[in-house]
Amino acid sequence: MIGSGVVLRTRSWIVLCLGFLTVGAPAALAADCPGHPDALGTSRTLVVDPREHPRIGTMQYRETLPLKDHEVVLTFDDGPLPKYSNQVLKMLDDECIKATFFIIGSQAKANPEGVRKLVAAGHTVGTHSMNHPLTFNRMPAEKFEPEINGGIEWTSAAMTDPSKLAPFFRIPGLMRAEGVEDYLISRGIQVWSADFPADDWRHVSSDRVYQLAIQRLEAKGKGILLLHDIQARTVAALPKIIRDLKARGYRIVHVVPATPERPATPTTPVEWLLHPPTETVPIARWPSVPSFVFTQTRTLPAPALADLNAQTGHQPLLPRRTKGQLDVASALPVPGRALFAIPEGSVEVLLSTTLSRRAAARLAMAAETPHAARGKTAKGKIARLQGRHIAHAAAAAPKPAAPAKSATPRSTRVATSAKKRA
Ligand SMILES: [Zn+2]
Repeated sequence: MIGSGVVLRTRSWIVLCLGFLTVGAPAALAADCPGHPDALGTSRTLVVDPREHPRIGTMQYRETLPLKDHEVVLTFDDGPLPKYSNQVLKMLDDECIKATFFIIGSQAKANPEGVRKLVAAGHTVGTHSMNHPLTFNRMPAEKFEPEINGGIEWTSAAMTDPSKLAPFFRIPGLMRAEGVEDYLISRGIQVWSADFPADDWRHVSSDRVYQLAIQRLEAKGKGILLLHDIQARTVAALPKIIRDLKARGYRIVHVVPATPERPATPTTPVEWLLHPPTETVPIARWPSVPSFVFTQTRTLPAPALADLNAQTGHQPLLPRRTKGQLDVASALPVPGRALFAIPEGSVEVLLSTTLSRRAAARLAMAAETPHAARGKTAKGKIARLQGRHIAHAAAAAPKPAAPAKSATPRSTRVATSAKKRA
């Protein structure tokens, strides 16, 4: 009795553990993929609001989709082209993978059934212009606007329910331009670049496409993969890419646009950066260029360039200050250097009020001599000579204040005689 009870409890425990393992592993998704127990599946759906994050993809932009480590978004451009697009669609269906397709208007016009198949399979459908011109970076608005709108019109016309069209756009050839992006964003359309391509539009082997897809994904650890569903090499590479994604523990994320009924997935701004700044990234620790704005700007106007002795046409080379230094500066104004300077001759003036002029001049010379020389003896020959050199240099340079009358003739006389000896 006792023995069988232990066996039962052990079996229950094993079943429980297996249950947890199944839930934690992507294999659990096979349950959602009837007939394909080994499918990669789609791990989650990410709902994005194009108005909050209008440009995504680190190939060109600062932000990308807020993916977790080992999450991948598959995207396919330039279709639908039945010969290859249908094969790609079948492979994705067999793996229960949901992807995003960027449709060319002329392709949708020629093959509207291909667009409907994508929607019916649950994929996200965005657009990719009407005719795929590779000149978006230098087109005027009267050219690029009809290109964008034509693609949207023909793709949505191919759909049974045009509201299924996602407000996602990928610029052909990624030939971005601010005017194009501004126009798309003004219409609430999200501009999609990518995080890495696999060069499947180039004349490379399908093996190379597979290698590049995996290598570049491994280098970033997550991201948006750019592929094309109109290429034979992509069709050939895709099964290997999918198998390898699963073997390496990657998970597929399906991206859909937010709607009034379907709010965006809650995220934080930092999640939209591929690799948020961390203590281990050296560049994150560089101080920012100082703006030279103090907290008391209302009472202390910013210095004019002329005040900083700036050369016309050049920025002054200001010292870099950290925020901490700026705070201190705003709280404790730095006193002027002149406040602590003792004008040459002033020591002699001070002493001359209590000593004879001759004695005062000797002591003043010692006081204004560098420490090293003074350390030996104020009366010594070296000290006198150094004092004379200083006096000579001081005589040549413009002085901050008028020297004492008594010091001038002697300094000049001594300097002249010292010069003769040199
Ligand atoms: Zn394209």
